[in-house]
Amino acid sequence: MRAVVPLKFGLKFAFVVALTAGLAWVGLASGRGAGHVPAIWWANSALVSALLLDRRRRWPQLLAAGYLGNAAGHLLIHDPLWAVLLLSAIDTGETAIAVYGVGSAIQGRADLAQQKQLLRFVAIAVLLAPLVASLVAGVVLHLALRSAFTVPLFWFPASALGMSVVVPLVLGLARRETRELFQPGHALNTLLYLLMIAVATIAIFSTSDFPWLFLIFPPLLFLVVRLGLSGGMLGCCVVAAVGTRFTISARGGPLGQLVDPSLENRILILQLFLATAVLSVSVVAIVLAELKRAHAEAGLSEERYRQLASSMEELAAVDALTGVANRRQFDHMIQKEWHRAYRHRSPLTLLLIDVDRFKAFNDLYGHLEGDSCLRSVARIAAEISRRSSDTVARYGGEEFAVILPGTHAEGAQQTAERLRKAILDLEMAHGGSSHGVVTVSVGCATVVPRDGAHVNEIIAAADAALYAAKAAGRNCVRAAD
Ligand code: GH3
Ligand code: MG
Ligand code: MG
Repeated sequence: MRAVVPLKFGLKFAFVVALTAGLAWVGLASGRGAGHVPAIWWANSALVSALLLDRRRRWPQLLAAGYLGNAAGHLLIHDPLWAVLLLSAIDTGETAIAVYGVGSAIQGRADLAQQKQLLRFVAIAVLLAPLVASLVAGVVLHLALRSAFTVPLFWFPASALGMSVVVPLVLGLARRETRELFQPGHALNTLLYLLMIAVATIAIFSTSDFPWLFLIFPPLLFLVVRLGLSGGMLGCCVVAAVGTRFTISARGGPLGQLVDPSLENRILILQLFLATAVLSVSVVAIVLAELKRAHAEAGLSEERYRQLASSMEELAAVDALTGVANRRQFDHMIQKEWHRAYRHRSPLTLLLIDVDRFKAFNDLYGHLEGDSCLRSVARIAAEISRRSSDTVARYGGEEFAVILPGTHAEGAQQTAERLRKAILDLEMAHGGSSHGVVTVSVGCATVVPRDGAHVNEIIAAADAALYAAKAAGRNCVRAAD
């Protein structure tokens, strides 16, 4: 297991060397005619992306890999050794400023679709790092070659463009929702959009007689709306690659029409054009991402509100001590069942249960024991009335009510008797009762509601029956006439 980690890291190290070497070579080779000034410098931004996606403690090693890759790129186009060593060092320095400047403020993985992170990224990786690197390069090249101090003019925009296109793209691709763009079912769609951008760019850049450059914006913005920030940046990459290809060609594409169509000038205008495209794409993508986030948050709070409302409703219906329905819910349910029974001409039964000599129980054992006794009675009542339409409620104090819809008088009395027996069988000691244990009296009323009858009838009848049970010596069931 331990050998796997260095091996994996070794592969990553080699990958970073090869990647930066390849991209540095592409940049140097495409800008060869303009004093090695490419329109867009890919290598540093690719390295920044690779580092931001890796663990922070490996950044020094990966920066070293980037240095080697950069040097290899310079060697490939036969740069002198001093240039190989110094320019690669400046590139690596630029990468280090960008990656440490951006990474130090972010916990976990960077997400450039977040406004705050994007602003920091633009300030440090897009502006500060390329600016520092290009100034240093200007001084170095002046000292080495006596060249004019104009190097920053070429280095800065190429580097800044690379950062602003590649890093959001790669970080976006590392996020799940963007990887989904290339999963089966979406991939074809995504590739078609990119193909559309490529065709549009080729069409625009292959006409040399008129600068149709602005026509790229509608398809590019359409791409952002459909595919988000990284999709938009992917589009910018396509535009940059195709645009560079045409701009450095002999005819110069639409930029061959400039008053001074030198390669430097063409590349400078191309960079301005690409920067505008990247900026437009970023602004639209950020606004869309913010909207999406706000939308998701609104959905979330609506869901929370619904949960809260439903738990409030539940709370409002439940008796806190025993967990059965409370009096409020009882009033609601007895009305409801009364009307239902009236409509269906079906019987409705109400049991009123009262704990015998409960005041004495409290006096003997204390109110806490009294509460626990009430919970036991409620539990048994709930166990006995098993139908989903049955309702057990605490009617008040030590009195409970059980509503049994569709139950005839005979079945009602049997249920009441089972309930009385079950509580007796609990054998909860009660020194204040002649039975020696906790008992209940049950009043039982069954009614088929008639025209004009009121729900109070059934409650009064059950109450009268309960009174009769008490009078008959308690621990018994009595039914209303
Ligand atoms: P009977 O057999 O005639 O019903 O006598 P009883 O003592 O049960 O009747 P009474 O209505 O005089 O007493 C009811 C007692 O119930 C009085 C009160 O202290 C007690 N009680 C009411 N609510 C609660 C409660 O939430 N917890 C406890 N522990 N006791 C309660
Ligand atoms: Mg009572
Ligand atoms: Mg009582």
